[in-house]
Amino acid sequence: RSKDGGRNRHTFYEARMEEERRARQVLGVDLRNALRAGDLHVHFQPVADVGTGSLLGFEALARWTHPERGVVPPGLFIPVAEESGAIVDLGEWMLETVCQEATRWPLACTVAVNISVMQFEKSDLVAQVDGVLERTGLDPARLELEITESVLIHDTDYAVEVLNRLKARGVRIVLDDFGTGYSSLSYLKRFPFDKIKIDRSFVSEIGDSQQSAAIVRGVIGLARGLGVPVVAEGVEQAAHVDMLREEGCDQMQGYLIGRPAPIEDYGDLVFDHPMAAQPE
Ligand code: C2E
Ligand code: MG
Ligand code: MG
Ligand code: MG
Repeated sequence: RSKDGGRNRHTFYEARMEEERRARQVLGVDLRNALRAGDLHVHFQPVADVGTGSLLGFEALARWTHPERGVVPPGLFIPVAEESGAIVDLGEWMLETVCQEATRWPLACTVAVNISVMQFEKSDLVAQVDGVLERTGLDPARLELEITESVLIHDTDYAVEVLNRLKARGVRIVLDDFGTGYSSLSYLKRFPFDKIKIDRSFVSEIGDSQQSAAIVRGVIGLARGLGVPVVAEGVEQAAHVDMLREEGCDQMQGYLIGRPAPIEDYGDLVFDHPMAAQPE
């Protein structure tokens, strides 16, 4: 009986896996259609200076409203996009859309776009970025590309070359989710990042976990020692800001500062900002 039960459990498990795999496949096809149908849009989350609290720029985050399923979280559709290869088109669409959008703003702040590993491997990212900058006329100094360590794992020499070519354009390269990957420290030696972003899993636990607080302090110290600006993501409480200020963290991002939202929600900052540069 126990043998049968084991077999049944096994079959049940495999069926579930197969079902899951199919569901992701369907979602992958839906995502390609969504790109064509215009069901994807961009939310912007503010990044602020820790010392002064003033707005420095925004991170662009992809959003998908599925016609039947409603809002699909990026934590679900980004991995699906990576598996199905749709991330290449999605990534290109994001770059184009975000750079176009940012040229409309009177405030010449930075915009950060997330770049997936596959965009490195399956497309000519440098040509893509060149094309977008040329078409939109965005000042390259305003564009930040956020990559994770995983980009540097597969073919490090190639990745470093691509990053250097992008950097030569004046675009800034940000190391995202720092602390969550593999052998982070060697990557800091191999490529001169323009900014290091501490993962929110550490930042949001500053008050509850001595380990997380120590890691956040350590990363800030490390970045300062390297002379690289550091940004903390996942800032949710005023106490987080106090600690980051004490430790000398440069920039911050999180629900306390502002949630990801359509840029219109930040219209007072972007369109009516007293510091806004006058459009030519
Ligand atoms: P990420 O690049 O690390 O983006 C930060 C994530 O943290 C966002 O989740 C943001 O909404 C969330 N976040 C920011 N502040 C807080 C906070 O105070 N508390 C909490 N709990 N969360 C906060 P989101 O938008 O769900 O995106 C998740 C991930 O999906 C992103 O992580 C990024 O890796 C990926 N992603 C999103 N858009 C794109 C895209 O256009 N291209 C690529 N390749 N990946 C994307
Ligand atoms: Mg990011
Ligand atoms: Mg991140
Ligand atoms: Mg993250």
